[in-house]
Amino acid sequence: MKCKKCGETAVIKLRSYNISLCAPHFIEFFERRVLGAIKRYKLLSPKERILVAVSGGKDSLNTWFALKKLGFNADGFHIDLGIGDYSRKSREKAEKFAHEIKGNLVIVELKDEVGYPLPSLIKRERRTACALCGLIKRYLMNREALKGGYSAVATGHNLDDEAAVLLSNLLNWNIGYLTRQSPLLPSWHPRLAKKVKPLCEVTEKESAAYALLNRIDYIHEECPYSRRATSLFYKDIINQIEWRSPGSKIRFYREFVTKGKHLFEEKHQEETLVDCPECGLPTTHPPCAFCRLKNRIKAETS
Ligand code: SF4
Ligand SMILES: [Zn+2]
Ligand SMILES: [Zn+2]
Repeated sequence: MKCKKCGETAVIKLRSYNISLCAPHFIEFFERRVLGAIKRYKLLSPKERILVAVSGGKDSLNTWFALKKLGFNADGFHIDLGIGDYSRKSREKAEKFAHEIKGNLVIVELKDEVGYPLPSLIKRERRTACALCGLIKRYLMNREALKGGYSAVATGHNLDDEAAVLLSNLLNWNIGYLTRQSPLLPSWHPRLAKKVKPLCEVTEKESAAYALLNRIDYIHEECPYSRRATSLFYKDIINQIEWRSPGSKIRFYREFVTKGKHLFEEKHQEETLVDCPECGLPTTHPPCAFCRLKNRIKAETS
């Protein structure tokens, strides 16, 4: 297998594009795809300060690495959720990586924020682990972005993640979720950082290869609360379609983002945000969900 660009030995075959590439040309290809998505969906401008949500997994570390390499001003943010060994290893990987790339990494511990790590919170609250964790992460990411003067929060969702969620939301006609599934959630309030997904056009396989070729040491274990079986089911269906018709995955996602644009715009116009009387951050229902969570814990423990 030879690299299509230089004729050297190829390390990866990309069926979707009908090409094989050597290591340096694959790295160049990957970074071009990231920059391409940033430009296509107008995710970021060159001077912006970006806070990358870093879990310690390959996609979030790749996001940080690629953004920095592409010349963006990106720092990292890690939330230590206190999920035993998983959180300990995630944090270690994030810290080690930050040290290697000489990047600034802000770390926040959930225990310090609400008094409990995630496993104890799950027992107290009648909500699924991921719903509760999602609420906490959204709040803390936005708060830290504002505190540090960052205009954007970047996450490491890749094309497989996005296409699988899209398929599942379409099958259930989950309009509420569909309206939030854009690679760019713009800021529509001065105290709300925009959210971007720079890896939205690279696949899981491409992301794993990029991490490997750049010797990025990431956590391989999944979070013990991850509902991987469900997402794997949809990813598998999309990969079967992709196998029969190469290029379908990216087309499916791109067409949705391009043609569903009005959905995202309508959604933002509909929402009226007010300041949370307790923390001052914008919310649709004051006090905000995070302050309500803190208040419940306080009431139960006092
Ligand atoms: S799998 Fe769920 S609980 Fe675990 S880190 Fe992700 S959102 Fe949080
Ligand atoms: Zn080459
Ligand atoms: Zn609040």
